[in-house]
Amino acid sequence: MTELSTFESLGLSAPALAALARAGYEMPTPIQLKAIPPALAGRDLIGCAATGTGKTAAFVLPIVERLQGKRGTRALVLAPTRELAAQIAEHLEMFGRGRGVRGAVVIGGVGMQPQVKQLRDGHEVIIATPGRLNDHLDRGTAKLGAIEILVLDEADRMLDMGFKPQLEKILARVPKQRQTMLFSATMAGEVAQFAAKHLHAPERIEISRSGTMPERAEQCVYLVPTQEKTALLLALLAVDESTTLVFTRTKRRADRVCHALDRAGLEVSRIHADRSQGQRKMALDGFKDGTYRVLVATDIAARGIDVEEIAHVVNFDLPHVPEDYVHRCGRTARMASSGRASSFCSPEERPLLRDIERFTRRTIDVAQVPRDSPVFSEAVKRQAEMFVESPRHRGQSRPHGPPRNRSGGGGHSSHASHASHVAATTGEKPRLVGSFRPRRRR
Ligand code: AMP
Repeated sequence: MTELSTFESLGLSAPALAALARAGYEMPTPIQLKAIPPALAGRDLIGCAATGTGKTAAFVLPIVERLQGKRGTRALVLAPTRELAAQIAEHLEMFGRGRGVRGAVVIGGVGMQPQVKQLRDGHEVIIATPGRLNDHLDRGTAKLGAIEILVLDEADRMLDMGFKPQLEKILARVPKQRQTMLFSATMAGEVAQFAAKHLHAPERIEISRSGTMPERAEQCVYLVPTQEKTALLLALLAVDESTTLVFTRTKRRADRVCHALDRAGLEVSRIHADRSQGQRKMALDGFKDGTYRVLVATDIAARGIDVEEIAHVVNFDLPHVPEDYVHRCGRTARMASSGRASSFCSPEERPLLRDIERFTRRTIDVAQVPRDSPVFSEAVKRQAEMFVESPRHRGQSRPHGPPRNRSGGGGHSSHASHASHVAATTGEKPRLVGSFRPRRRR
């Protein structure tokens, strides 16, 4: 280890080093190594870093260092989703505690009043999603006139989500004389223009080029008809007990997949834009603490999920935007842990697969659909039966099982273990089926 690769070498103060030690961070990640010194010096910077690289600490630590001892709201961090904002707030809590640097979390889906109070109290850092911050600006309950540090986190996603007008409105209220740090997984098109307009002689830090996959994620694709996707998912989940994040393209499909897994006896919850803030939090907390082994999510809702040790990401549907594939797979193989990403590709999705492979500059290995798995064949059989019984369910993949007594609202948790699900459906001990290893290259 060279001296230059330690936190001590980056010019951080003793309290910051102590907080890092408490957090269990031993070595800086590449983005932290490169971003912290210019950020501490007050320079503008563009950090092009994929998810899971440690970028949050790369800007939160310098904010705390630069604001300690100052009063009033002097930093603003903008993030695309409530979950990401909450995650940034957790980092600020971790590194700013005891140093007089407090965060006001200003996000939609929760009451305005507590936020109004925090804003009035002059919390040093506002962590906000653009929509809600604009509501406060319109009402005059947020003041940005003393902002010295502005962070745009996941700027690519904020622009993708159509937040540009909101961002422009906010930026017009922030003093021109300030430090701006922009983080983005990619620096394509609109983000580059936005950065050119709002940053001043930024230091550019690129940790991974656009479209780079986390090195350690093992990827494969299953070529499978849509109506067999649920059976395939059940079969893959029967292989082991690993924590699994499942992505669907729409909120409705997330609901359907979640219900199907729930009926099959898995501990599962879901997160998407139609869920309330409380429901999302419950789902995320439950996923973090292991109450739910599986979380079904849409892309936007999953953006801020920071759960260590997600062993398996399943792309139940391929994303329409190839960059989302990278973001999704970035949820596994974070930091030191390794993980795998399995994608389900129906015949209609083949063009999307081609786009992803072009974007990531990598051919994804094809894995064999585990048709010999009892779980798979049972699920397909049941679905066929259901098909005959109830033609209105045509096209929906729903393995049967006695509907369980559950109140509609929250996450779905089963008391039956997954092993008992397998045993119940097959009458035998769960056994390994299929393979995550590619059997054949395309
Ligand atoms: P981020 O890319 O900021 O979302 O961080 C991804 C995960 O890595 C989070 O759980 C962080 O707490 C963790 N992390 C960030 N930096 C370090 C580090 N230097 N050492 C260990 N863990 C880290």
